[in-house]
Amino acid sequence: MSAPPLSPTRPGPQPFNRYGLLRRPDDEHAFVLGNWAELAPRACAVGLWGGLLFAAGTLADLLLMRQPTPWGPLLLTRLLVLALGLRLAWVTRPGATPDVQGLRLWMALFQVAVLLGLRVVVQLHGQVASYQGIAAVLACVAIYAYAPMLRPPQFWFMPLWLALAVLQQLALLHAAPAEALLFLVLLGCVNIIGWSLATHANRVQRNAWLDRRRLQAEFSDRVAAEQNLRHLFEASPVPLVLAGWPHGQLLHVNQAALDLLDPQRALADPMLAQAADFYADPQTASTLGRSLARHDAIGPLDLRMKDSARRVLDVMLSARRLRYDGRRAVLASLVEITHRKRHEHELRRLAHTDALTGLHNRRGFFARAERISRDPALAPLALLVLDVDHFKSINDRHGHAIGDLVLQQLAGRMSSVLRDADLLARIGGEEFAALLCGTSSQQAWELAERLRCAVCEHELRCQGLRLSLSVSVGVALLDAGETDWEAALARADDAMYRAKQAGRNQVCPRPAADAAADAAA
Ligand code: GH3
Ligand code: MG
Ligand code: MG
Repeated sequence: MSAPPLSPTRPGPQPFNRYGLLRRPDDEHAFVLGNWAELAPRACAVGLWGGLLFAAGTLADLLLMRQPTPWGPLLLTRLLVLALGLRLAWVTRPGATPDVQGLRLWMALFQVAVLLGLRVVVQLHGQVASYQGIAAVLACVAIYAYAPMLRPPQFWFMPLWLALAVLQQLALLHAAPAEALLFLVLLGCVNIIGWSLATHANRVQRNAWLDRRRLQAEFSDRVAAEQNLRHLFEASPVPLVLAGWPHGQLLHVNQAALDLLDPQRALADPMLAQAADFYADPQTASTLGRSLARHDAIGPLDLRMKDSARRVLDVMLSARRLRYDGRRAVLASLVEITHRKRHEHELRRLAHTDALTGLHNRRGFFARAERISRDPALAPLALLVLDVDHFKSINDRHGHAIGDLVLQQLAGRMSSVLRDADLLARIGGEEFAALLCGTSSQQAWELAERLRCAVCEHELRCQGLRLSLSVSVGVALLDAGETDWEAALARADDAMYRAKQAGRNQVCPRPAADAAADAAA
């Protein structure tokens, strides 16, 4: 049975009329259809047992009748009521196709037949007042209390019948006015009480039905909304993972998440996996767990994950705690940023690298030097600044391109002299800097001297040219915990200029000069 539109759920005027029926015929029809399982058996019982009881009244006829004259009409009346009762029972029999119009028609006809039949019986048994009274009250109570009251005219049958009964008492049966009045009062009270109870019952039943339908409509809306969300979840191009909280067992993953975390479909059942299985760092699960315990939502944050083939992925994760299917859960979105990270890393590397020599440039040198200075295990630190002597003349004599090649070869030669832990950079045109780790002032001077010799003692061969070069070197020692690299560089630069002034191709300050300077200080 398909659900009809639910007009009574709309806010508006009272949906009931004064009979307790639904105002809109469509809704009333839907109510009867929707409650057929309850209404039909009652109507069937009314028809079957009411018809049989009325027919069984023939026995009373036999016992009470003194003259045999009215047998024919009496029997006919009883059989007519029985026939209509059986017809009503047939229309509403168990398993019958719901027929709202049929139920209403045969219920009304049966009711009219019973009431008129009772009047006929009373007319023919007119002299038996108690029998009349009891039969009338019983019929009245039975109809109001048990017969489904589905149409407004049904409510008027009883009062009309009451009026008819009183008229019959007075006019045809010549009852005393007091007796008729008593009858009127008794049946009037039954009518008033019965009317109110039937109206009330109608309203209560329909209200319950409306509530039920409203809940069903809300439930259907929710189911539809949940299905929409589910489709959205499944079809989202963003990988989405729903995991239990706090243990992280996977509850749902969408296609995009499966493509990300299990691209080769290596997992027999991804739902047996835990979120923690996919973090590159085992600590990530507990770190995220602590954050989610403090905040309902976290992210976006960058982290490293690994797929089922242990390929490491850079991922941007946002997660929110929620309730799913009555349990605590976490919904996480994962956006893969491996390419972006690689790109960023490459950009950072380029920004820190000298394109000509492949060494660190000035910015790269400072960035690396800062990290080195934070590690106490690498102290003490010394800084060298090396400037090629008369480099301009190389450019002038052989051209800028040869000058470039010379700079590249110089870089290679100096790198080969330095230790792995040391840091060499090209910080200007033909100016280099070296950061020496774990190096005392004496060791720094010795290394600077080795560098200087490595440059000046071997000619450079460049496109058939043999070039002799030299460098002037300035040395500065870093104080423990010193972070002002510009100041340290300025000190080394000063020393380098002193070496230039002292005739170039030398290291400044020399250790002896250092000692003298210390003594002066
Ligand atoms: P000094 O001994 O006083 O240091 O003399 P210098 O000639 O080395 O010093 P100066 O500062 O006068 O000249 C530096 C030259 O380095 C000037 C410039 O043409 C050259 N230079 C700077 N950068 C590059 C580069 O990337 N490639 C080449 N080929 N030459 C460069
Ligand atoms: Mg120079
Ligand atoms: Mg220079």
